[in-house]
Amino acid sequence: MARILVTGGAGFIGSHLCERLLAEGNEVICIDNFLTGSPDNIAPFFGNQRFQFIQQDVTNFVYVPGKLDAILHFASPASPIDYLELPIQTLKVGSLGTHKVLGLAKEKRARILLASTSEVYGDPLVHPQKEDYWGNVNPIGPRGVYDEAKRFAEAITMAYQRAHGVVTRIVRIFNTFGPRMRMRDGRVVPNFIAQALRGEDVTVYGDGGQTRSFCYVSDLVEGILRLLWSDHPTPVNVGNPREMTVLEFAKMIIELTGSKSAIVHKPLPVDDPKVRQPDIALARRVLNDWHPVVPVEEGLARTIEHFRAKIQESA
Ligand code: UDP
Repeated sequence: MARILVTGGAGFIGSHLCERLLAEGNEVICIDNFLTGSPDNIAPFFGNQRFQFIQQDVTNFVYVPGKLDAILHFASPASPIDYLELPIQTLKVGSLGTHKVLGLAKEKRARILLASTSEVYGDPLVHPQKEDYWGNVNPIGPRGVYDEAKRFAEAITMAYQRAHGVVTRIVRIFNTFGPRMRMRDGRVVPNFIAQALRGEDVTVYGDGGQTRSFCYVSDLVEGILRLLWSDHPTPVNVGNPREMTVLEFAKMIIELTGSKSAIVHKPLPVDDPKVRQPDIALARRVLNDWHPVVPVEEGLARTIEHFRAKIQESA
């Protein structure tokens, strides 16, 4: 059993990591400042003796008493709407926050896994994206605050590995969905599901011809934990390679919810990537044949039930 720190542990992916790590019998310390995370996501863990919560902003000095075996660094706004509203915090947590957490890993001799993103590939000119592609990012565009923060985070993580011998892992996370996403976080999955369940118009940005590839959260968590304990020192894509257009995705959600919602088109956000699909050959090779096992339809059905219950609670 290990003693593991999860930064951003009250967020969507962070809370699923905490849950899984606790279920495996580990001791979990969760840090979050609730900027975009929520106490509701971790409320069920408070009864567990092996769970500890520290409310803190990781861009400041991070103090954690006792030994640590591993750190999962997941603190960051992660929805395009969030990082448009929180540009400085997004840059600070990716840069200063990652620096602080790497310092903690060095001090504790803990291995550390950085949550990076497919956004490091920007609006990609190589398709599907492989880890050796360096990306096409607009540094001064509205998404640049997230993309460049994560690119810096990868750079400083590799520097701590090379200069200080810290054991580091980097996961590049592609679009992921599941229960505990915030209904109003602005991302396509909560937007479409909430709109469809309420019978409102489903808002497809642009002509909907842009593509994404959606991974259910339990598959992502499995990939992350395999990577954490693996010996692979450079970034690994983790995501579902099943690619579809946003318009196809809207139709799928309308069908799965049994909704009568109409599709309307809204302007495409600036620098919205035109295509995105992970090449997961590396993950398969170095993570013991890791690949997604939950079909998108099944993951969506579970997520729809979660949002349906939330909407009924608030009614
Ligand atoms: N999108 C959309 N309608 C919405 C929200 C998002 O058509 O209500 C589109 C968005 O323009 C993008 C895709 O869905 O092409 C995925 O957007 P999301 O915000 O989930 O994250 P991204 O993959 O762009 O980081």
